[in-house]
Amino acid sequence: MNPNTCVRCSSAELQPGKLWGYHQVRFVPESRRFLSLFSSVKVRALVCMNCGTVNLAAEQAAVAEIMK
Ligand SMILES: [Zn+2]
Repeated sequence: MNPNTCVRCSSAELQPGKLWGYHQVRFVPESRRFLSLFSSVKVRALVCMNCGTVNLAAEQAAVAEIMK
């Protein structure tokens, strides 16, 4: 999967942003029991301006770091 193109239509016209509810959405590895800012990573959202799909991504290096 190329993080710079839409997973649905492969368009490169992606608008970056965040998914936001009461708090910002974060990724927590399944092996982590407790949720904290130090055991989770930000989830980046990119809306495809061609088809409207919301593409989600997280920084792999940050996930690898909290898995140590
Ligand atoms: Zn698309």
